[in-house]
Amino acid sequence: MENEKRDLVTTIAQLTDGMAIYNQLDTTEKGLSTQEVNERLAKYGKNVLHEIKGEPLWLEFVKNFTSLMAILLWVAGLISFIANLTELGIAIWAVNIINGCFSFWQEYRAGKATAALKDMLPAYTRVVRDGEEKKILAQELVPGDIVKLEEGDDIPADIRIIHATDVRVDQSTLTGEVNPVNKDARVVRNTTGNHADLRNTIFSGTSMLKGNAIGIVVVTGMETDFGKIADLTQNVKEDSSPLQKELNVLTRQLSALAIAIGIAFFLLATFIVHYPIVKAFVFGLGMIVAFIPEGLLPTVTLSLAGAVQRMAQKNALVKKLASVETLGSASVICSDKTGTLTQNQMTVNHLWTIKHSYTVSGEGYKPKGSILEGPKEVKAADNPDLFELLRGALLADNAKIVAPNKHHKRYQVLGDPTEACLEVAAFKGGINPELERKIAVRIKELPFDSDRKMMTVIEENVAIRTFDTFTKGAPNCVLEQCSSYLENGKVKKLTAEIKQKIMDANDGYAKQGLRVLAVACQQLPEELRKEIKKASIANVEQKMIFVGLIVMFDPPRKEVRAAAQLCHKAKIKIIMVTGDYSLTAESIARNIGIIPPDSHVNVVTGEDLKKMSDSELKQALKGEIVFARMAPEQKYRVVANLQQMGEVVAVTGDGVNDAPALKKADIGVAMGITGTDVAKEAADMILTDDNFASIVTAIKEGRGVYSNIRKFLLYILNSNMPEAVPSVLFLLSGGLIPLPLTIMQILSIDLGTDMLPALGLGKEYAEDSVMENPPRSLKQHLINRKLLFKAFCWYGLWASIISTGAYFFSNYFSGYTFPHLASNGTVYAQATTVTLGAIIFCQIAAVLNCRYEKKSMFHKHFWNNSLIFVSIIFEIVLFLALTYVPILQGVFGTAPLGYRDWLFLVCIPFPLILIDEIRKWVVRKRSSN
Ligand code: ATP
Repeated sequence: MENEKRDLVTTIAQLTDGMAIYNQLDTTEKGLSTQEVNERLAKYGKNVLHEIKGEPLWLEFVKNFTSLMAILLWVAGLISFIANLTELGIAIWAVNIINGCFSFWQEYRAGKATAALKDMLPAYTRVVRDGEEKKILAQELVPGDIVKLEEGDDIPADIRIIHATDVRVDQSTLTGEVNPVNKDARVVRNTTGNHADLRNTIFSGTSMLKGNAIGIVVVTGMETDFGKIADLTQNVKEDSSPLQKELNVLTRQLSALAIAIGIAFFLLATFIVHYPIVKAFVFGLGMIVAFIPEGLLPTVTLSLAGAVQRMAQKNALVKKLASVETLGSASVICSDKTGTLTQNQMTVNHLWTIKHSYTVSGEGYKPKGSILEGPKEVKAADNPDLFELLRGALLADNAKIVAPNKHHKRYQVLGDPTEACLEVAAFKGGINPELERKIAVRIKELPFDSDRKMMTVIEENVAIRTFDTFTKGAPNCVLEQCSSYLENGKVKKLTAEIKQKIMDANDGYAKQGLRVLAVACQQLPEELRKEIKKASIANVEQKMIFVGLIVMFDPPRKEVRAAAQLCHKAKIKIIMVTGDYSLTAESIARNIGIIPPDSHVNVVTGEDLKKMSDSELKQALKGEIVFARMAPEQKYRVVANLQQMGEVVAVTGDGVNDAPALKKADIGVAMGITGTDVAKEAADMILTDDNFASIVTAIKEGRGVYSNIRKFLLYILNSNMPEAVPSVLFLLSGGLIPLPLTIMQILSIDLGTDMLPALGLGKEYAEDSVMENPPRSLKQHLINRKLLFKAFCWYGLWASIISTGAYFFSNYFSGYTFPHLASNGTVYAQATTVTLGAIIFCQIAAVLNCRYEKKSMFHKHFWNNSLIFVSIIFEIVLFLALTYVPILQGVFGTAPLGYRDWLFLVCIPFPLILIDEIRKWVVRKRSSN
């Protein structure tokens, strides 16, 4: 099979005749029919690479029981069994098993969440089937399909080229060779035996860096060369995020601390309280188990994965968990304009030639509307300049408009909207696009690139027309290569004065935020026509004849204004980096609120930037700035300088040349709709709707996750305080105060009441207030003094006072006072049960209090997070079981409580909530002042 397949690709590369290729692959110029496609799909299967199986599930499961902490707990349990402390052994192992299962479940769900994302971004490709051009899922491609490829596309199969313009391909995934290689349609006579050397074949897994091509699919899926090395792409391991790493270290430190505390407590119990050694050992061991933060890491992972899923629902696909937290600290967004801040729904609304200016009526891509000069409707045929302007623009258009059909209710654009609207304008001027394309057949294209900002087409067979070469592009760039202009059909010399007149007209439109394209034409010199291969940018795009301007409107996206305001509030700077003209860029930036209405803005063009030193650039970046007429490569420099200034930068991009900047940025954001596959691969996040507002939503989520993680850390840490204080009292009193909370009871808190509420806090919605503060510094640690203070000296302190108070009161009501407290029997069991209950009810208040940092908990979203309420119910049910189920009473040393105890316990959360609400109110007042 291997040899057969190799033969097929090589054999087809060696076929000279187009017909022979079609015959060999049993297809035609019109492509395959639907029936043939179905048959081939059944025969060859889908064009996908089979997943290489990851680790088996059981191994993933077992791993959760073999971490350092888990081993520690296994050993602790084992020692308990050997020391004949069966109940303690069972409790410790139960903690371990529950934690392990819980961690596995969380990781499994997090994994599912990220795996689902891969399917959300299907790759598409353009094919010709049934004689029509269509956009299909790349996985539905079959051998014999005719494929159209453009700059930036990932190659979806092994394809024999039948037509190519300036194709350069990055084959590094196959060969490791980083330099791009040229490809064309010419026959290969001598083969080296190496597939990658076949000049007329492009291979799956590689990408098109330049040019465009039409080709026939030879093999698909696992039959391709890339299929053979599929494991290269599939064995990519996800890196832990800095946050996960930090937590890893933190968990280890806390575990070490727990062990130290355990040993200290053991020694103190032995030597100060003179506890029997076994009892002291139990005591120390219990403290270790209680203080080890077992579930922290998986809870964080699940919390990040949850955010990734929520972001995906809001049109932002994050490729790595680590990006979620970087997003939260983004301080600058460098955004493209077209399609991201604007809708990229172009409509031509003005036309301008040297003697006339026109308005164009109608909206969008509907072929309805007309061209008006003042109030009078005109047709292209009425004026030779208008005719050449519309015809030139039409012929230099590679996009296709698809009329509404059963799949789409509206007109659809295949290709670039800037081009699609040109066909509509020509139609409105009375030009028949089909006919014009038949009269003039394209023989060569010098494709558009964002560096020279124009493109040219050369036509053949245009005997009945005057010109055969058309260029369209950015007016200043086109004009620079013109030496004459068209006036009422006559070619005249372009003077400085006329140039100024043209640029004045351009500026007038640009100031209104409109996008302007210039059209130029010429007759190709005879010598180039004879040897069309020699026609190049250098010898064609020069001494051209300026024809006119095409002006189009691209409405801003509605959501952008509010998103920009939110960024201002959150102290996130927005920098527009566009290839468009400076006046258009500035006008739109003001219009959508990126730049405040009256403030000064520095508009820096690509040319200006070339002349600036890095320190000048940094100085300019401190103020309001817009970059216009930028080449994509220049974005890299802007990003690098911003990073040197300590900013965390998010950058948008769609083209091949944007890839370096996307990689350099802290968050590279690629466009899902208009973006090339190369850009998507280089990015950390993909916007499925290309919308700027989605970046801001993602940043809000990122900030929300970080604040949620702090919330549950606060929650988990605060319960350690009331767990430890009773033991400390016991030790300090030299045993005069019997243990207010037994070791088994401490473990029950760990077993049941820590994890679920923490998980609930991890799922909390991002508060609006997260966007009221400046971005967090990446150097800032998750656990800081403020958090520790709040955990131990605020929530923890209240809980300790209440729970130890409860212990003494319970004793008091049964007739026992210090120093004659009950040390065994029902009264002791009841007193410890009340202490345990008090801690649990304090935890209920704490989980509610921790939900919001500053905001009052009473508002319309109170019931939104159901997991919080489920966890509260769980805590109460668990406590009831511990108190009333006889076996559990025996194991945990608890006793049934009286109505007075219950009344006390149920009342605990209310004052705690009240006190914290007052604290939050004071904090809010202080920060608003
Ligand atoms: P942004 O960079 O914000 O997405 P942009 O679309 O203006 O904006 P580029 O795609 O780099 O950026 O285009 C630069 C300029 O090239 C445009 O302002 C326009 O004048 C011209 N241009 C854009 N698309 C085409 C095209 N298909 N054919 C000819 N000229 C074009």
